[in-house]
Amino acid sequence: MDKTLIYVAHDNLNRNKGALAGAQPETHSIVFVESQQMIKGARWNRQRLFFLLSAARHFADELKTEGFEVMYIKSKDSASGIQSLSKKYREIICVEPSSYRLTNSLADIGVRFVPNDLFLTPRALFEQWSKSQKSLKMENFYRWQRQRLGILISDGEPLGGRWNYDDENREPPPKSDYRWPTYPHHKRDSIDEEVIVQLRDLNLSGSLDETIWGTTRKAALAQLESFLKSSFANFGPFEDAMTVKSWALHHSLLSPYLNIGLLTPDEIINAALKEFEKGNISLASCEGFIRQIIGWREYINGLYWYFGEKYRESNFLNSKNPLLPLFENSGSTKMKCVSETIAGVERRGWVHHIPRLMILSNLAALCDVSPVELLTWMRNNFIDAADWVMVPNVIGMSMHADGGRMSTKPYIAGGAYISRMSDYCGDCAYNPKTRVEDDSCPFTTLYWHYLYRNRDHFKKNHRMFQQLNGMKKLRDIEATITRGNEVIEGLLAGEI
Ligand code: FAD
Ligand code: SF4
Repeated sequence: MDKTLIYVAHDNLNRNKGALAGAQPETHSIVFVESQQMIKGARWNRQRLFFLLSAARHFADELKTEGFEVMYIKSKDSASGIQSLSKKYREIICVEPSSYRLTNSLADIGVRFVPNDLFLTPRALFEQWSKSQKSLKMENFYRWQRQRLGILISDGEPLGGRWNYDDENREPPPKSDYRWPTYPHHKRDSIDEEVIVQLRDLNLSGSLDETIWGTTRKAALAQLESFLKSSFANFGPFEDAMTVKSWALHHSLLSPYLNIGLLTPDEIINAALKEFEKGNISLASCEGFIRQIIGWREYINGLYWYFGEKYRESNFLNSKNPLLPLFENSGSTKMKCVSETIAGVERRGWVHHIPRLMILSNLAALCDVSPVELLTWMRNNFIDAADWVMVPNVIGMSMHADGGRMSTKPYIAGGAYISRMSDYCGDCAYNPKTRVEDDSCPFTTLYWHYLYRNRDHFKKNHRMFQQLNGMKKLRDIEATITRGNEVIEGLLAGEI
């Protein structure tokens, strides 16, 4: 009864943070729970489940080597697994969980929470910031973070005189030959192999052919180093680009490691700033990357807790369609941009931000898909998925289901945007320039269809005036709506 039991969730694999920070083998025991909910609760992407299970087992082994009593138990759900041990310990503690569901179930059995310092912004501080604002603009939060944390700040002003280099960071992929960075692959060890065997007979999606995700801190550090050496310098310019020639472009591939604690935001920032100080990285690339970590990531986590548990149910546009069948099979569509993106998810459980936002979510929004259906599919299929990060990104940013609490206007676009920012369209069965022909790009037709069917929702939104005016000027709007209805029917039937 003298010892404290620490419950380590599968996204808390860090010895120096949270409940493990001051733990000693003499005073603390440790439990991991592999719940049925986690294994069989959904048709997960194989890469995702493999990564979570194997990383936790590696971490459990490291703690054992340090001398801790470590229990790795299997149970119906996390709470019942932990409760079965409770009588033997003085108390049970864990880091504030990263979802409402786990928070509620652990609070119900009396687990004490310690602050989650895997983020730079405590939840209470974010709430304080939010309450001081008229609107919750990410840009304002980010500037406040830069000042508060003293990052890229000189005499109280932004280094270089500007906060934002987005206008230099929106280049399409280069037309001529270009050497895209390569990424480390990770040799699988006996723990990895054991997990692969465990997953073999489960009903999962995707495949484990790719070995780009490592399952240890060593692998996470190798990815960080590879990013800093090979990708960081051109992170900014090609941040929004998409190309068939590179699946990752200059993105960091750090989100899976960050989201389970194998890396921390402060160590990534420090390493990035150190590289910048050597003089080989432009301010635009450095600022662009820092913005993602101290801005977007922290902002999304802050909003998840600030908006509350019911936020996930928002459905401002009353969208009710089921998810399109093409989300389950990359080979089932002739839309090049979509098949490339879904194939990337099947293979790696990952595509970068713009395919998530401007291909997958854009298509779901344009087809009036229920926000929760998209949320569930994304939660199941992305390697870096977690409730705190998926809910605001899907409900707020992507689907505009919160009516603009997070982003004042929806992120929707027609084929012209995808054609400009990628090299997909040249090799596609559809034409991004037309909207009413049989081979018109579904994105182009549906962009106008979306504006037309939601015109009343947006009529008072001054950021949508230009788009609505464009729609009103279309001479063939009736034919576009007819074609749009056919396209949605075709996509729902799995025929496009
Ligand atoms: P980089 O482009 O190299 O960026 C660096 C880091 O910035 C990322 O690792 C991530 O930690 C952070 N970041 C950047 N944008 C965001 C954001 N919008 N929200 C949170 N963190 C951000 N990110 C996840 O970590 N998990 C998710 O489940 C997830 N789902 C998403 C779903 C949708 C619909 C959208 C639009 C975005 C989602 N994102 C998610 C955000 C972003 O797409 C990924 O963080 C990024 O693509 C991960 O790849 P990377 O590490 O190479 O990122
Ligand atoms: Fe995608 Fe349309 Fe371009 Fe085809 S034409 S790749 S569907 S944007």
